[in-house]
Amino acid sequence: TATIIDGKAHAASLRAAIAGHVPAFRAATGRAPGLAVVLVGEDPASAVYVRSKGRATREAGMESVEHRLPADTDTATLLALVADLNADPAIDGILVQLPLPRQVDAQAVLLAIDPDKDVDGFHPVNAGRLATGMPGFVPCTPLGCVMLLKSVHGSLSGLDAVVIGRSNIVGKPMAQLLIAESCTVTVAHSRTRDLPARIRAADIVVAAVGIPALVKGDWIKPGATVIDVGINRTETGLVGDVDFAEAMAVAGAITPVPGGVGPMTIACLLRNTYVSACRREGVAAAPVDTAS
Ligand code: NAD
Repeated sequence: TATIIDGKAHAASLRAAIAGHVPAFRAATGRAPGLAVVLVGEDPASAVYVRSKGRATREAGMESVEHRLPADTDTATLLALVADLNADPAIDGILVQLPLPRQVDAQAVLLAIDPDKDVDGFHPVNAGRLATGMPGFVPCTPLGCVMLLKSVHGSLSGLDAVVIGRSNIVGKPMAQLLIAESCTVTVAHSRTRDLPARIRAADIVVAAVGIPALVKGDWIKPGATVIDVGINRTETGLVGDVDFAEAMAVAGAITPVPGGVGPMTIACLLRNTYVSACRREGVAAAPVDTAS
C-alpha cells in the first residue's frame, strides 16, 4: 500500500521555518512582512479561506491587513484600493480573493496588482517569468505540490509526469514547474483522448480537475506518486479527484484529501510573502523553498 504524504505536517514545518526567519527580517528592517487580503462580498467559502490566511499570517509573525468590501463594490473602487496597496511600503503581498462578483472586471483588478507584490502569482507578468525561468512569484497550490513531490523523490529529473487540468491557477503553472524540474510533462484536460493510458505511463500524477474520484486505481502505474489537488464537496464529505481507496493499493505515495495539498497552499502564501518582503527590502531571504 501507498505511503500517505502528510501535507499537514509538511505545511506545519514550512510555516515554522518561516516564523523562525521573521525575527531576523524585523531586526534588519524594523518592520514585519505585510500581507493585504481583499475580500469582496459574502461568499462563505471565500470568507473561510480569508480567515485562515489571516490567522496563519499572524501566527508566522507577519502583519495581516484584511479589506472587506460589500458585494456591490464596483471595479473603480477596487482598482483604487489596489493602487493604494501598491503604493503602501508596509505591504509586501496583495491577494484579491477569487471569485469576484459578476459586476467586477476581475481581469482588470488582477492586472492592476504590482507584479512584485503579486504573491498569488496570477499576474501575466509572473506567469511569463515562470515560463521563461525568471525569478517571480509562483502560484501557491502548484508550488506546494512540487514541494511535496520533492519530499518523496528528492530530484524529479527525468520522471514522466501527467498533469490533469490546464487552468491558469493550477494546471498550467504546475506543468511549467515540472518542466523546470526536468520532468517529461503531459498536460491532460477535458478533451484528452484515452486519459487512462496517459496516466498509466506516468511516474507522477497531479490531478487538478474538480470531479470526485475521476482517477481510478487501475489507471495508476504501480509505485507512482499521486498528488490530488481536487477539493470536491460530496454527501460523504470532502473528496479529491482520485479514488483514494483504489489508489492506495497501487500507488507508491499519495496525498490525502483533506490534509494533503490544501495546507501547503497557505504555507506557500506565507513563503511568497516572506520572500517578497526580503526582495523589496534588499535583505537575503533564508532558504524556504522546500518543506524539508
Ligand atoms: P478549473 O475548473 O479551472 O479547471 C479544471 C480543469 O480540469 C480544466 O482544465 C479541464 O480541462 C479539466 N477537466 C475537466 N473535466 C475533465 C475530464 N473529464 N478529464 C480530464 N480533465 C478534465 O479548476 P482549478 O481551479 O484548476 O481547480 C481544480 C480542482 O482543484 C478543483 O477541485 C479545486 O477546488 C481544486 N483546488 C484546490 C486547491 C487547494 O488548495 N488544494 C487550490 C485550487 C484549486
